[in-house]
Amino acid sequence: MNESKDFLRTIVEEDVKSGKYQEVVTRFPPEPNGFPHIGHAKSICINFGIASDYHGHCNLRMDDTNPTKEDTKYVEALKDAVEWLGFDWGDNVYFTSDYFPKLYDYAVTLIKMGKAYVDSINEQEMREYRGTVTEAGKRSKYAQRSIEENLDLFERMKNGEFKDGEHVLRAKIDMSAANMKMRDPLLYRIRHAHHFRAGNEWSIYPMYDFAHCLSDYIEGISHSICTLEFENNRDIYNWVLDTLGLTAPRPYQHEFARLGINYTVMSKRKLLELVEGGQVSGWDDPRMPTIAGYKRRGYTPESILNFCDQIGIAKANSMVDVAQLEFCIRDDLNKKVPRVLCVIDPLKVTIENYEGHEKIDAPYYPHDVPKEGSRKLPFSKKIYIERDDFMEKPPKDYYRLTPEQPVRLKHAYIITCKEVIKDANGNIVEIKAEYHPDSKSGADTSGIKVKSAIQWVSAAEAKEVEIRLYDRLFKDEAPEGIEDINPDSLQVIKNALIEPAVITEKPDERFQFERHGYFYADPIDYTDEKPVFNKIVGLKDSWAKKKKTAQSTPKPQVKKVHVDGEVAPMNEAQQKLFDKYTNEFGLNSEVANTLSRDEHLSSFYEEAHTVLNSPINLANIVTNEVARELKQMQTDELKFSAKQIAELIKMVDDGTISNKIAKQVFEEMAKSGENPAQIVEAKGLVQISDPAKISPIIDEIIAKNPDNVAKFKAGNTKLLGFFVGQVLKTTGGKANPKVVNELVAQKLTS
Ligand code: ATP
Ligand code: MG
Repeated sequence: MNESKDFLRTIVEEDVKSGKYQEVVTRFPPEPNGFPHIGHAKSICINFGIASDYHGHCNLRMDDTNPTKEDTKYVEALKDAVEWLGFDWGDNVYFTSDYFPKLYDYAVTLIKMGKAYVDSINEQEMREYRGTVTEAGKRSKYAQRSIEENLDLFERMKNGEFKDGEHVLRAKIDMSAANMKMRDPLLYRIRHAHHFRAGNEWSIYPMYDFAHCLSDYIEGISHSICTLEFENNRDIYNWVLDTLGLTAPRPYQHEFARLGINYTVMSKRKLLELVEGGQVSGWDDPRMPTIAGYKRRGYTPESILNFCDQIGIAKANSMVDVAQLEFCIRDDLNKKVPRVLCVIDPLKVTIENYEGHEKIDAPYYPHDVPKEGSRKLPFSKKIYIERDDFMEKPPKDYYRLTPEQPVRLKHAYIITCKEVIKDANGNIVEIKAEYHPDSKSGADTSGIKVKSAIQWVSAAEAKEVEIRLYDRLFKDEAPEGIEDINPDSLQVIKNALIEPAVITEKPDERFQFERHGYFYADPIDYTDEKPVFNKIVGLKDSWAKKKKTAQSTPKPQVKKVHVDGEVAPMNEAQQKLFDKYTNEFGLNSEVANTLSRDEHLSSFYEEAHTVLNSPINLANIVTNEVARELKQMQTDELKFSAKQIAELIKMVDDGTISNKIAKQVFEEMAKSGENPAQIVEAKGLVQISDPAKISPIIDEIIAKNPDNVAKFKAGNTKLLGFFVGQVLKTTGGKANPKVVNELVAQKLTS
């Protein structure tokens, strides 16, 4: 169990202690109208996780009240996902549709109590009568119908005597309730549609607000955990159960924040569009954020569980960086999978002074991984290396093979380039090389210095494989849909070459292809004749770099090529730092990982920390902004000092400037080396928090946008963000967002 309890577990624990419930019973209640995504994984982890922590159980319930969109294939996908994540729903899966007869009876009871009525106004009137956030609604004249008439009409609705939309059943609550959801909510609607389980038996279907609370009650659920968008539905939940006088113990609803991830769309509707539009190969396309997609791509259940654990449970919606999920899978596979040699873009090398053939014993795992196993790597005169591991005219920091610079063949010998063979167009087609017999890995007495070791395969024994290189499906950080698709999200390489043991011995299904990343034998298309591997994730976060170079003005990039490019295990000192950062400083493991592995970054960070005790904010700027600068230059070339960074963050911490402005100040400081306080002063960037200054700006924006004000008042509360955004824009990002939010909300609702 988590050491620090989240707010949901705190509630559950209190309820257990007070004896409110005999047993903790939760449920995961998806609608079977699409494949579950990573957001559902979070909900699964919460519901099944809490049940298991408190020795209760969790039901898997299909919330199948909308006949037109649901299907058995989605039920199967949901079961697969829960099972794959390692959770157990017990003997049977529950279906809301199984409760249709009971729900009908509850509705009849409400009618008999005078608490529900059949309404027959049209949709347009219904909308008008609802009122707005600022005005009460009014009740339809049909609310006067007698109990007998309501009973009769409701039964006939059930029997299919009316057309879709002709009547609805509504709860009789309060048309002037401040919570608009309580203004006589719909309980049933007419739908002449075939239901994938109930067939054509029903012509009416219960609404979520009616079906959900009662299904929870019928199943003896104690804690009904859902996402924040249902916060306002909680009143209906309670009203239905209380009005029906259902005996205790009854369930209560608790809300948590939905998971959102950048570079991802997370709604079954949008995912369905991608599937139907053919933008992806199906719900399980390895680029999809569906659980089936992650599974096919090669993610492990452990990595997803870890991710859900790391992001925690919050009460406020937020966006999680997809890099964090990628970190989790990398972190999991780093310690688990065999490391093998694969050449994706082969360049022929002939080793002129090597005759014969040998088999080199090579371990699958590095020393610090507690796993054993090795294979024989065939070595011969004709081998292939990666095309970009050779350069004729290399830049300064190029560490691999060049006409002047020898390189080690991983696990084998050092080779030196003797001749470069080109075709008529000047393309390099072959390298003639020499090997150094006394340089064999593990028994090297040659004294030759090399800067890196590269992958290779023996030409005669290598196997041809198909490699599917996947990248993020969307190029936009907050994608809307199809128009934001990354055109390079899939690249298929037909003729990559891999060392033979991977195919013949099959030591695992997942591998680290040295220096390339982690790969998974595609569970559907792989055959021994035509092996197919999916790229799960690269060895490091290449996207962060890509994004930053794309944003900053094109500076001449001096690429620092690191030896091997693999994720090395931490040494003792790094591990110690990592532990301190995560345990004492409260940094998340990704940030801690970046810092502790990089000596320059961590010493810079430590120095800033001696000036200002703000570990998290300092870590963020050091691992992002400072790290970006350090990619271009050495620490002593930086224009700014650790002390200045501390001063900058201090201004953020004490509210002098906003986070956004801090980035702007940083850019300036990185260029000029001027003190942050001076920059803020000179450019007038001090954050505006005084309501008296912000108020007139808001008033002006409200005056300029009467249409949006009207829409907001009519219930489109999303427009709050529009107004806040306008204020921030007008002030060049200087207005304090928290103050703006409060003031805008106040003004729009008053
Ligand atoms: P979508 O909008 O993607 O279709 P949904 O909320 O309609 O999702 P349901 O099938 O009704 O999907 O959801 C089943 C459960 O999963 C619900 O309890 C819901 O709150 C939860 N859930 C759905 N999306 C997320 C998410 N992004 N983060 C956390 N929980 C989620
Ligand atoms: Mg939904």
